[in-house]
Amino acid sequence: MTAAKIPSLYVHVPFCASICYYCDFFRQVYRKETADAWLNALEYELLHADINEGIETIYIGGGTPSSLSESQLDRLLSLLDPYKNKISEYTVEVNPETVTQAKIDLLLKHGVNRVSIGLQSHDAALLKKLNRNHSFENVSRLVNQFSACGISNISLDLMYSLPTQTMESLQRSTELAVSLNPSHLSLYSLTIEENSVFGKQGVRPLDEDTEADMYEWICSYLTDHGYDHYEISNFARDGKESLHNTRIWEYDDFYGFGCGASGKDEKGRYDHPGTLKQYLADPAARTYTYLSKEERMYETVMMGLRLSRGISRTRFRKMYGIDLTEVYPETIASLCREGMLILTEDRLFCSAHGFELLNTVLVRFMEEADL
Ligand code: SF4
Repeated sequence: MTAAKIPSLYVHVPFCASICYYCDFFRQVYRKETADAWLNALEYELLHADINEGIETIYIGGGTPSSLSESQLDRLLSLLDPYKNKISEYTVEVNPETVTQAKIDLLLKHGVNRVSIGLQSHDAALLKKLNRNHSFENVSRLVNQFSACGISNISLDLMYSLPTQTMESLQRSTELAVSLNPSHLSLYSLTIEENSVFGKQGVRPLDEDTEADMYEWICSYLTDHGYDHYEISNFARDGKESLHNTRIWEYDDFYGFGCGASGKDEKGRYDHPGTLKQYLADPAARTYTYLSKEERMYETVMMGLRLSRGISRTRFRKMYGIDLTEVYPETIASLCREGMLILTEDRLFCSAHGFELLNTVLVRFMEEADL
């Protein structure tokens, strides 16, 4: 049996101009020499990987891909040129303080058609507290610059539940974000990770009730303003959902390249070594987490119910040779009775109430899966 085609490719760029105090991603402060060595390793990894034809989405994230110098960005995008013939969505994450017109021209030259910009908040004092070195005006200028150059598929990241953030401040950030007319918005609530600067300083997020109120307010504001709440934390207008991430929520396989990246194939999930030093020593090394059929079925449900349209039963049957309702008969029946899930001939999805209580819904599936 030939392996199914993998449609998506992710590259992780582990460099940022500076480090946000809440961040515990795989990243470090940009240094030209280190980034050159990383590009050499990435080139080796790509050359030795077996990448199928017909990649449909590429996503370059991080870290901050725009923190690379112009020549390094050109090199990175050139390394990916062989895989972009059939591409429908090509996204690069950028931060306002590291984008130049020359970098925008490079993105255009290499076929990038979508950018994701970290706005987080409009509030200068709050951005300073997060150690983010940009203003709302910087983001606004950048959105206009991209639009003027023909990249109008723009996603903005917004954060809520930030220390000292008030409801009024969050509301103003959301209104200003919408005033820029982005095609897509992603929401992130602050989680304090042990290894972040905030974690080490003992900073606490806002209380759970305020966090829930903030989430509810943003969701209703964005849907009132024409955005489809298509995923638990993501909103799109005019059908501009993130194709790349939607593939991942639909539990498709994807390639992951660069230290800090994960990927998924028919065997399971894989990660690259934990440090940049290890990656530079052996860029092709991977650690596999092999997944049983039961684990894969549960992950399909866990990811798929994040989407408002939920899971296709036909697709699930094609993937596993069994109907969803036969794998989780009790959970589906009881959650439907309780008004949290809706089952149709071809789909299983959360009701508005179930979407609000997604974690509870998923725990119920996990209990029946008995993993
Ligand atoms: S949040 Fe993003 S920009 Fe900030 S340090 Fe982390 S990866 Fe870099």
